[in-house]
Amino acid sequence: MKLPVVNHPDYVAKINEDNKFPIQKFGALADHLIKEGVVKKFYIPQECSIETMKTSHSLNYINHIRNKTLDMKLQKKIGFPINDSVVRRSFVATGGTVLASKLALDSKLACNTAGGSHHATFDCGAGYCVFNDVAVAANYLKNKSYSKKILIVDLDVHQGNGNSEIFKNDPNTLTFSMHCASNYPAKKSKSDIDIELKDHMEDEEYLNILYKNLKELNKNKYDFVFYVAGVDIHHEDRLGKLNISDDGINKRDRIVIENFYSKNIPLCGVLGGGYNKSFEKLIELHSMLHKNCAEII
Ligand SMILES: [Zn+2]
Repeated sequence: MKLPVVNHPDYVAKINEDNKFPIQKFGALADHLIKEGVVKKFYIPQECSIETMKTSHSLNYINHIRNKTLDMKLQKKIGFPINDSVVRRSFVATGGTVLASKLALDSKLACNTAGGSHHATFDCGAGYCVFNDVAVAANYLKNKSYSKKILIVDLDVHQGNGNSEIFKNDPNTLTFSMHCASNYPAKKSKSDIDIELKDHMEDEEYLNILYKNLKELNKNKYDFVFYVAGVDIHHEDRLGKLNISDDGINKRDRIVIENFYSKNIPLCGVLGGGYNKSFEKLIELHSMLHKNCAEII
């Protein structure tokens, strides 16, 4: 079976070149996946509707983004200027994760080439995250009765604090975040399960901790999984403080994807963060998610 992968050219928003966020990665990753033969043709998402967005964000906040009226202080907290192109990107990338999650229901595996904006909360964006695409897609699946119980496996180096905030009173969405304790955000929120890792952790220890936790997670019953596959755990990442190798990231992705695929639980993979010193390396690392899914499916 061919892996369904969702991409839109508008994922590459126009922001100043001096912005530290590597926004060009979304286009470069799409090109790389085509060149490597992982994808023949992408699924093209539409903008997420306001109705669907409202399941996870306040209408007040959605309108401030849509109308570009967000306070400068709050724009700074996000790290992107709220211009036409960023607004378009925010709606279409969220629509992308919703579409990928729907595709995963049939194919068991599907991926977005963006997504994992896990710092956005109900009424505020932060840390390069405008809308919380995984939260929106998770609530969409539950509201449509496509899923009863969802697990979010967040392995980005930063805590998925937006997800834990949005789902703190939702017994049907379990948030699991395994992150570096000393990385952003300084003030962590409380996920259902938080695994805090110490600085400079290397492959063997990291993968052992992951493996043990997946075994625990397998004791619960889920019918859908979102996987936030951030590659900012890499040893050459500019922001992440862990020391995971290329091979470690590849093994991590493989372990997670196989764990759920073997149990017939649909998994939607999203990108998460990555700020590698080398742009080429960053694309290679992000593509491991899609390559591993394509090999397993
Ligand atoms: Zn991150």
